[in-house]
Amino acid sequence: MGAAGRGADRRAARVQQSRSSSSASPELSEERPAEMVKMTKSKTFQAYLPNCHRTYSCIHCRAHLANHDELISKSFQGSQGRAYLFNSVVNVGCGPAEERVLLTGLHAVADIYCENCKTTLGWKYEHAFESSQKYKEGKFIIELAHMIKDNGWE
Ligand SMILES: [Zn+2]
Repeated sequence: MGAAGRGADRRAARVQQSRSSSSASPELSEERPAEMVKMTKSKTFQAYLPNCHRTYSCIHCRAHLANHDELISKSFQGSQGRAYLFNSVVNVGCGPAEERVLLTGLHAVADIYCENCKTTLGWKYEHAFESSQKYKEGKFIIELAHMIKDNGWE
């Protein structure tokens, strides 16, 4: 009889404990700022993601040239075949702009080259005179013949 009574006491004590921990929940909500710090950390990590994403590199020296996310169009034609239009590129130098009449009209374009191995890769549209071609201004063409796909391509 005495032992059973003690067991009941223990059970009651346990209920008491769980009650006191549930009453501590307002304290938990006060700890939320700590969770927000964690979220900020993972956000910082995401900024590194593009680096391990699909990229295009110089076929001659493997310098990174562009992120796949920056690709605008694959339907361009260069002097050596297919060429891609990119929003932005890296490790690329730019020659002097000159006016050229292309299939799509008069443009001011500048040759671009790999800053690492100095190979001419394509060109940059500095200015388009036809309003329908304005979207190309400030964008870069790299010929497929000078690019190799790097990182994360299946
Ligand atoms: Zn290169």
